[in-house]
Amino acid sequence: MPGTIKLASNEVAAPPPARVLAAIAEAATGGNRYPDMAVSALRERLAARHEVADEQVAVGCGSVSLCQQVIQLSCSGPADEVLYAWRSFEAYPIITHVVGATGRVAPLDGEHRHDLDAMTRAVTGRTRVVFICNPNNPTGTAVGRTELKRFLAAVPPEVIVVLDEAYREFVTDPGVPDGMTLLAEQPNLVVLRTFSKAYRLAGLRVGYAVAAPALIEAVQKVGVPFAVNALAQAAAAAALDSESELLATCRTVVAERGRVRGELLASGFTVPDSQGNFVWLPIGRDATAFAGHCAAHKVIVRPFAGDGVRVTVSDRPEDNDAFLAAARLFRGEEGVLTR
Ligand SMILES: *Cc1c(COP(=O)(O)O)cnc(C)c1O
Repeated sequence: MPGTIKLASNEVAAPPPARVLAAIAEAATGGNRYPDMAVSALRERLAARHEVADEQVAVGCGSVSLCQQVIQLSCSGPADEVLYAWRSFEAYPIITHVVGATGRVAPLDGEHRHDLDAMTRAVTGRTRVVFICNPNNPTGTAVGRTELKRFLAAVPPEVIVVLDEAYREFVTDPGVPDGMTLLAEQPNLVVLRTFSKAYRLAGLRVGYAVAAPALIEAVQKVGVPFAVNALAQAAAAAALDSESELLATCRTVVAERGRVRGELLASGFTVPDSQGNFVWLPIGRDATAFAGHCAAHKVIVRPFAGDGVRVTVSDRPEDNDAFLAAARLFRGEEGVLTR
């Protein structure tokens, strides 16, 4: 719909930088050839970027496909369990089901945060994989270094822990660890990153995993050959060359995140502190009505029925202003209705 503002999928609104578009166009001229199956050039770039060995990096068709590969390599049927917090990323239960494993959930705490003690208690002899989404989609909350290290120390070494850091570039709290710094001591840890959010390539589908070489080898064994296409490989490498520009936009988003949250709090909404490029409104049974109200004002947000609404913070202040205006109106109308 023309004029619609899409704040439902946590993308950055700005298109890819010119250098990235040029790299995509250039790669398209070789579209008759198969891509590099080993994704060597991009793997090398990522390994250098994170100061790890090339053998510690696997690239996938989006980080969601790497989530699936991790479950696939460790689960063979319903007796094998995948543990994640709830509410967390919607893809975890879907891919668990696709692989045929059993999903187990540990509820978030009262502050919409991962309850790592509850998750530790939920690990059983059947647990094969644990997902920790940090910061958590959709609530935006993040776990700190000390509690995460305590959790990792408590999980048996044969259980794979996936630390999904899709929103790492938006984290500003110094207490939130960079998962890459935990890898050396943790052979069962997989850190996931994506080019879909800060790197503005959601439509091209590139994500990557960093872990110990043995684990990466196992991840790659269950990958579909040629899953990362040539345009995606070229675009991701060019995005790394454009990093300063991309990260500058992330800083704009972070500033807007503070402004949006402040204005929502002033309007009477509850909004947990977010370390991602989105905010969470835990409005319970109003979620669907709120999303419908926003859509009527041409702002598309993501409702989770009965639970809350996730709203992307745009890098364009005018997008956020349109959302804030709609949110205030909802409050106003709700006030009228309940008076
Ligand atoms: C957006 C997002 C991803 C990215 O998935 P891709 O497949 O790389 O696009 C991964 N994890 C979480 C929690 C996300 O919100």
